[in-house]
Amino acid sequence: MVNRSELFRECCKALERTGNTDARFDTLCIFQDCLGDKNPMFSPFEEVTIDTEAQIRAMTERRISGEPLQYILGKWEFYGYPFKVGAGVLIPRPDTETLVDCVIRLCRDNRMTSPKIADLCSGSGCIAVTLKKELPLASVAAVELSQEALPYLRQNSALNDAPLSIFEGDVLTAATAAKLSGLDIVVSNPPYLTEDEMSDLQTEVRREPVMALDGGSDGLGFYRELTPRWKRALRAGGWLCYEVGMGQHESIESILIENGFVNIRFTRDLAGIVRTVTAQKPEE
Ligand code: GLN
Repeated sequence: MVNRSELFRECCKALERTGNTDARFDTLCIFQDCLGDKNPMFSPFEEVTIDTEAQIRAMTERRISGEPLQYILGKWEFYGYPFKVGAGVLIPRPDTETLVDCVIRLCRDNRMTSPKIADLCSGSGCIAVTLKKELPLASVAAVELSQEALPYLRQNSALNDAPLSIFEGDVLTAATAAKLSGLDIVVSNPPYLTEDEMSDLQTEVRREPVMALDGGSDGLGFYRELTPRWKRALRAGGWLCYEVGMGQHESIESILIENGFVNIRFTRDLAGIVRTVTAQKPEE
């Protein structure tokens, strides 16, 4: 049998050879998961059972083949909450925590204690679930079209004990928007990658659903379609909150202005990139 330290070094080296710059981190996550130990390297000389060794090697192989770590683990943390993830659903990104913060701040600043919120293109449900956890009196609707993503959305709502109203539907149709009305907040992290970005995706991102990433030729397709359609579902004075791609905020500001939105604000993510655009539907 092999001990933890020997196996760790071997897996780490194998990952490094593929050009993985997070080899130590990835190996540690795989060890934590397979050994059920938060600090597996505190006992470096402990022997690893044959079954666990096989499991660790299999997960390392999947990582070597370019599968995202998050899919291999089957879960990932967002805003301190656990989310089930796997092929067919976009992996929650730390950037998106900026969007959640924005919505929470809007609710606090505007004294909305029990806001009516809709999250469009909900995917794993990381935004909708987190908002329900952080704003327990809110009613949160989550809209998703993908038959592959919907089971994750339902599971993550249950896993976190965060009841949502889940709608299966296409956010780009008037029929879906007509199902909701009088909303205080519409929030969305829609697909926003450009055609050029789609043709040059990182190996791991290529395993994620195209549907969650492809924003059309200039990446702005969803913002153009969602803004007029979901404006009707907002109450007067309600807010639209978007996550946006790097460098897209000014074009999205123009789309919002064309659609009569006011009080347009940008927020930067931890890397200093403008990551969210929020805007208000005028009061009557
Ligand atoms: N932030 C994601 C990426 O860069 C894109 C997510 C999206 O299109 N909404 O891969």
